[in-house]
This record gives sequence, C-alpha cells and structure tokens, in this order.
Amino acid sequence: NTFVEIDLGELLNQNIRRCKYVKPTPVQRHAIPIALGGRDLMACAQTGSGKTAAFCFPIISGIMREQYVQRLRVARTVYPLALILSPTRELSCQIHEEAKKFSYQTGVKVAVAYGGAPINQQLRELERGVDILVATPGRLVDLLERARVSLQMIRYLALDEADRMLDMGFEPQIRKIVEQTDMPNRGVRQTMLFSATFPREIQRLASDFLSNYIFLAV
Ligand code: AMP
Repeated sequence: NTFVEIDLGELLNQNIRRCKYVKPTPVQRHAIPIALGGRDLMACAQTGSGKTAAFCFPIISGIMREQYVQRLRVARTVYPLALILSPTRELSCQIHEEAKKFSYQTGVKVAVAYGGAPINQQLRELERGVDILVATPGRLVDLLERARVSLQMIRYLALDEADRMLDMGFEPQIRKIVEQTDMPNRGVRQTMLFSATFPREIQRLASDFLSNYIFLAV
C-alpha cells in the first residue's frame, strides 16, 4: 500500500516523497480515497495518526484540479477556497507548516490566523493571497467581522480536533463560521470532521454540518 496507488497527482506525490512519507497511515489510507471521491467524512483520529495529511491531501488535490477557480480578492477581503479550523495556536501553526510542505510548487497558497498574537502581520499575509486558510475559531470570527475574510467561496471545510474545540467553548463561533460557508453555495461545500472522541455534541455537529457522510473509525 503506497501513496502512488491513491491518485493524488505527480506534484503531490513528489511532495509526499520529500516529506519522507512512504506508506499511508490507516486514517490516510481510508480517509483520502473517500474525500477524493467527494464524500463528507467524519473520522475518529488521535494526535499522531497522520490526520493532518488525511485532510490536507484531498484539499490540495481538489484545489489543483479546479484550475478554473480564480483566487479572489475584492478590496481588502480575501476569499479562501478551503478552511481548516483547529482549536489552538500551536496546532494551527503545525497544520500550516505541514500544509505548506504538501503544497510546495503546486501554486496553492496557505495562510494561518490565530488569536493571542497581533493581527496585523496575519492581515498582511492574507493580503498576499490565500487558497487554504488555517485558523482558530475566535480569530477567524474577528477577521469575518472586519470583512477581511469572506467564506462565500469555501469548497472544503475541515474541522480538526472538534471535540477539543467544543471543550474550549468554541461551539458558538464554529456555528457562526460554518453558517457563513453555506450561504450562496449550499451543497457545494465538502466537509471533513476529525475528532478523537464521539460524544453526543460531536454527533450533533456532524449531523448539522455534514451531508450524507461516511463515518470512519480506525
Ligand atoms: P499528525 O497526526 O497529522 O499530527 O501526524 C503525526 C506525525 O506523523 C507528523 O510528524 C507527520 O509528519 C507524520 N506522518 C504523517 N503521515 C505519515 C506517513 N504516512 N508516513 C510517515 N510519517 C507520517
């Protein structure tokens, strides 16, 4: 079982080799083909399972396939095509670093926004263009309120460590964010929810945000 068998394209395969990934982890082996097939997904995945690549590869591959999609910016508002929500600054930075390696030379641009740090540098990075935005919920709500980010073009949404985001009290922010991703393009968004545990609140999020999804426990 190799990454080459999963049809991710030559550029992504090169980057995967550069990262020294040889064999997909179980969550990657199962989640990536499901996501490439366009299905929504709820996956049980712990830290260290390789979940970052499991949601990044299909997103990057999807954005590369849709070459007709132009990176949009209207005045000071940027329109990312993919959004990855994560609970903390540390995790967001980690995802950002990995996603940059995965998208090397693909033309796909990744940016990160998190709270507890000055917003100006993040605004400048966003202004340089963004296809995939990695963000913590609180800082993203701030950016939406300032009209510096619009979620109207979002085609891919990944929620990482969803249980931790709920434990941290982010549910209102998450609901506000997701609402803004499905205004004009309902049905177009593909959603992937990753969580280590599946309490009732996570199941409720899944039934609210995912459509006709596949449940994956590895
Ligand atoms: P994650 O669960 O996404 O935080 O990944 C945990 C660690 O495993 C990270 O350091 C990844 O770079 C690494 N990793 C992820 N997938 C693979 C793979 N298929 N082969 C080797 N290392 C991997």
